[in-house]
Amino acid sequence: MVSDIRAAIIPVTPFQQNCTLVWSESTKRGAVVDPGGDLDRIRAAIAQNGVTVEKILLTHGHIDHAGAATALKNELLVPIEGPHEADRFLLDHLAETARGYGLADALPVTPDRWLKEGDQVSVGDIVLDVLHCPGHSPGSVVFVAKDQWFALMGDVLFNGSVGRSDLPGGDGALLIRSIKDKVLPLGDDVAFICGHGPASTIGHERETNPFLQG
Ligand SMILES: [Zn+2]
Ligand SMILES: [Zn+2]
Repeated sequence: MVSDIRAAIIPVTPFQQNCTLVWSESTKRGAVVDPGGDLDRIRAAIAQNGVTVEKILLTHGHIDHAGAATALKNELLVPIEGPHEADRFLLDHLAETARGYGLADALPVTPDRWLKEGDQVSVGDIVLDVLHCPGHSPGSVVFVAKDQWFALMGDVLFNGSVGRSDLPGGDGALLIRSIKDKVLPLGDDVAFICGHGPASTIGHERETNPFLQG
């Protein structure tokens, strides 16, 4: 079934992370992707769009993406799905990480479901395919709504750049391989929202992204 997917970007944390509310317009059911912080803004976006949130989805375990996930879960009583279990070491230590960055208090996250390559996640009538794309973090995943030509990229690929690979567990060569082997084959017409900065399409990045040439 083709769902009518909608997305609203909610910039959160001092890192200006693109927390995203994604939903299907016909059912008004949706998910919050990467609630890193600033719960008041996330609450406002949920109310403004009249969405019933069924799930919290995490692309990876970094503080700017996952810092408020447990608080939001406790408030909405919905499950957290993702990322891949290889990011457990990040999610276990979110409280210390928040203190280290001088951020608002964060709680550690224990996902209700770890995701792996080939899994599917349902949100209302939206079906998201899971790609495991390590390199920025070991457990990074990308969510793809194939029938909507839409993806939630996390910090794997950006408009004009790629995720950094100098953080614990990062691997620059592996990141480029993840992008070339799994993300680019999604097709040029796939549009995506990424963890930071403006949205883009796979085709635009394939043609112009300096990290993907050669
Ligand atoms: Zn990150
Ligand atoms: Zn980030």
